[in-house]
Amino acid sequence: MAQPITGEQHVTRRWTPAADFDGGDMDCGSGLLLSITSAMRRIREGEVLLLHTREPSVLADLPAWARLAGHELLDVLDGGDGRGPWQLPIRRGSPTPPAPRPTFTEGHTVPLGSRLWLYTNFHCNLACSYCCAESSPKATARLMPVEVAAAATREFVAQGGRELLVTGGEPFLHPQLGTLLAQTASQVPVTVLTNAMVFGRGPRRQTLEALDREAVTLQVSLDSAEPDLHDKQRGAGSHAKAMAGISLARDLGFRVRVAATLCPEDAANADALHGALDAIGIEREDRVIRPVAEEGFAGEGVHISLDTVEPEPTLTVDGAWWHPVAVTNPHLKVADTPLPLEQVLDVMRDVLAVQAAGSSQGRSVFRCT
Ligand code: SF4
Repeated sequence: MAQPITGEQHVTRRWTPAADFDGGDMDCGSGLLLSITSAMRRIREGEVLLLHTREPSVLADLPAWARLAGHELLDVLDGGDGRGPWQLPIRRGSPTPPAPRPTFTEGHTVPLGSRLWLYTNFHCNLACSYCCAESSPKATARLMPVEVAAAATREFVAQGGRELLVTGGEPFLHPQLGTLLAQTASQVPVTVLTNAMVFGRGPRRQTLEALDREAVTLQVSLDSAEPDLHDKQRGAGSHAKAMAGISLARDLGFRVRVAATLCPEDAANADALHGALDAIGIEREDRVIRPVAEEGFAGEGVHISLDTVEPEPTLTVDGAWWHPVAVTNPHLKVADTPLPLEQVLDVMRDVLAVQAAGSSQGRSVFRCT
């Protein structure tokens, strides 16, 4: 039998129990955690609950629970022979402090089929170090035909689609982008992801000026408030040209969103970027700061898999994919053709159903009503 802990003994340990709880033979998986959690709520922050237990596994499991719950396990005491019973003083911790504002924009899950991504092409005027699509001036164009884009959008809208995201490569290098956007944006709101560097003059400027301001939003890549980081990742001189593109698009009356891609070591630059965007009047809701994904040219970054990212159906001229950052990943290819979209979505739904069934195994629903 353990020696009773007296107030005098606690003086040297600088704690005195505000309450005792006898856990008996309960282990952490069979009711003890619920009981201590309730007991901890009955003492004040900084006070100590003395847990009595005869169950050896509690000595292994309780420290992790205390750490996660924000409490402090002060000691493990027994009668001197190491065989228990044991007494564990636990100091009630502070409420969990609010999480710091995340650097990266938090997404929220949307119903499958409400958003659709279209890759218009894969070639680009840039060759960014982290490009998930492996785009560059030398990349094969893989142009999305206008009629495929229009048909996919019709099917998408008919099934309840709400938002079309058009990306590449650099979409403004697609020779028929104006027609493609006219035929898609007439059906559903479209956001075009662009580096904003190639539409300043000539035919592409005409394409830009002809776009419907109500139906088309531009999302421009801008990785930093200062040129150094942006140019390091995206090429010398690209920051100044992106800023000029943002300015032009806004002058022409477009809603402009800004997207930054940051490595974890560059995340400290996010505040400066927000300051710069405040200065030019880009609304907070029109900013996204995202991490590099470990896809395409990027050797490291956020791991993308069926299990780790929510699906965002993505069509290219030669297939359909689980997510727009994974269009070079054969493991995340959903279909070998972009159409019919219904078939693409059905495959994704089947995968989600299997995942949901797998995650619910081991815990059953037990209803008494
Ligand atoms: S990240 Fe965008 S701008 Fe850079 S190479 Fe890829 S497609 Fe082009």
